[in-house]
Amino acid sequence: AAAASNQIKNAKLVLLGDVATGKSSLVLRFVKGQFVEFQVSVAFCDSCSIASCESTIGAAFFSQVVAVNDESVKFEIWDTAGQERYHSLAPMYYRGAAAAVVVYDITNAATFTRAKKWVQELQAQGSPNTIVALAGNKADLLEARQVSAEEAQTYAQENGLFFMETSAKTAINVNNIFYEIAKRLTQVK
Ligand code: GDP
Repeated sequence: AAAASNQIKNAKLVLLGDVATGKSSLVLRFVKGQFVEFQVSVAFCDSCSIASCESTIGAAFFSQVVAVNDESVKFEIWDTAGQERYHSLAPMYYRGAAAAVVVYDITNAATFTRAKKWVQELQAQGSPNTIVALAGNKADLLEARQVSAEEAQTYAQENGLFFMETSAKTAINVNNIFYEIAKRLTQVK
């Protein structure tokens, strides 16, 4: 145990999922503790100082450290903006990823169907060591819910993922899901 103390583990993390499920918002909440209703991706493009980064390279990059006991995980987060349009680029995002967060919107059943496709693709073509988390985002919009937590939990269990409902808006479970990923990463030796 002594040898492991104060170690920092770098971990590439990618977010996958349909457009407008809240991927950028989850990253913004986690990294900066903020939420904005519209045009999150523009703020991200400003931060990488490439005006058209969303439509060109299609990625924004952030890092954030999470402490787990006496270890630290430094997430290198790739927010794959535009992947929905440029699907052929997706493998370059998730290649080498220590973790992937597959995001759907609990108020939009089609995004859950799409999330399952991402999980299948990751399991078929990604690394077997990639930790995959399923995030049912917009959990603050309960009255518009189309996907039950039970259905998603069952799917996650059957496919070896861990699952949480999140809200980038209210911050519910956002730190938690990244912490749970970090915890699992520190357990991989
Ligand atoms: P992305 O395309 O997956 O990166 O999605 P965005 O992060 O751009 O979010 C799409 C829209 O959904 C934006 O208007 C966000 O403000 C909104 N949004 C994102 N997360 C949440 C959430 O947890 N709750 C609610 N109510 N809206 C959200």
